[in-house]
Amino acid sequence: MRLYLAVFALLAAVHCEELFNGRDQVLRINAESKNHIQILKKLERDVDSGLDFWTHAVSTEQPVDIRVPHSSLYALKDFLKKNNIPFTVIINNVQELLDREREEMVRNAEVERQTKIFNFAAYHDLETIYNFMDTLVASHSNLISKVNIGSTYENRPMYVLKFSTGGEKKPAIWIDAGMHAREWISHATAVWLADRIATDFKKNRAPVPSILSQMDIYLMIVANPDGYVFTHLSFSPINRFWRKNRSATSSPKCNGVDLNRNWDAEFGGPGASDDPCAEDYRGPFAQSEFEVKNIAKFITSHSNFKSFMTLHSYMQLLMYPYGYIGIDALDWPELHDVATKAKIALYSLHGTVYKVGSIFHKIDQASGASLDWAYLRGIKYSFAFDLRDTGEYGFLLPADQIVPTAKETWFAIKYIMKYVCDHPY
Ligand SMILES: [Zn+2]
Repeated sequence: MRLYLAVFALLAAVHCEELFNGRDQVLRINAESKNHIQILKKLERDVDSGLDFWTHAVSTEQPVDIRVPHSSLYALKDFLKKNNIPFTVIINNVQELLDREREEMVRNAEVERQTKIFNFAAYHDLETIYNFMDTLVASHSNLISKVNIGSTYENRPMYVLKFSTGGEKKPAIWIDAGMHAREWISHATAVWLADRIATDFKKNRAPVPSILSQMDIYLMIVANPDGYVFTHLSFSPINRFWRKNRSATSSPKCNGVDLNRNWDAEFGGPGASDDPCAEDYRGPFAQSEFEVKNIAKFITSHSNFKSFMTLHSYMQLLMYPYGYIGIDALDWPELHDVATKAKIALYSLHGTVYKVGSIFHKIDQASGASLDWAYLRGIKYSFAFDLRDTGEYGFLLPADQIVPTAKETWFAIKYIMKYVCDHPY
């Protein structure tokens, strides 16, 4: 195996100057043995390989998707064949999808500019989302307010929408999206949710008015604004597939900390990297990052959150703690039951199938994740969503799937919110 890895590294280096110039592909690998999983894990740890792991090697049941720079395609395919690891190409031409996404956004921005109508079936940049929030607050000022919870590393404001019918520090529900910058469907879903909650309240559509009579809802549409802006800077893979924030690290050539490995929840344990060039770099110490510190401070000082939901993508998973360890959480039976019923509610709309389980068992071991942090601080009803799809488009989910995704996700979120209201603790 060592020999093959060395050969792979050499072949990849030869073509290094072509990086990002050719057509990247996304390969799906179906590991068939523990040995295959070990090989893939080792490959992922090799940050110099230039491979972008979209999903991780956990078990033989779950596929591993890797975006492979054009320059490494030959070497990787050869490496996999020599190790008898089967693979298929799931995205043949990443750049083609990137170009299509960009064209759609440009076209949509022009239509929105002319009509002055916000299109929920389109992806938007940070400025447009922040403007949308202001418009929403202005038209529902009896319900929604915008809370500035602090600034990012690059000094952008971080906003939370507060939905409240009044009262001091009522029990509350937290929802965030976009902690990982490239997971655009999470931001777009949160935008739709904000509008839906406001509209349902205005039109007195169950169960929103009764939920809001008992609890406040806090919704953060863009948890990683710097990273999100970076994904819009160009439509090259290096920008569009950026995951972390943008802070400087101890390595002059690598920016960014994985905000979902930086929380004070078993920080520094297995399932996060100490290498600043890794996609899951945890940062120098727990809550070193402004973005994490601001959210943690806000939730801690509020001190009455009863539910914590965080939206990511992709793989259609609804998860509960833990991520850092493979043992069941104390509330496992209840959390599993709630997640299962939420999954069924989601399925009822378009027949989209989700899997339910802990982060550890469904994605991979992850230390310093926000979900564990919330749960370990006593927020029992903590759930993480990995939204559509299961790999046909991965992070490049076409915009015409935004509204269907958001609508079905709302079915699950609605179920969880109502359950939380009905089960005070
Ligand atoms: Zn994510």
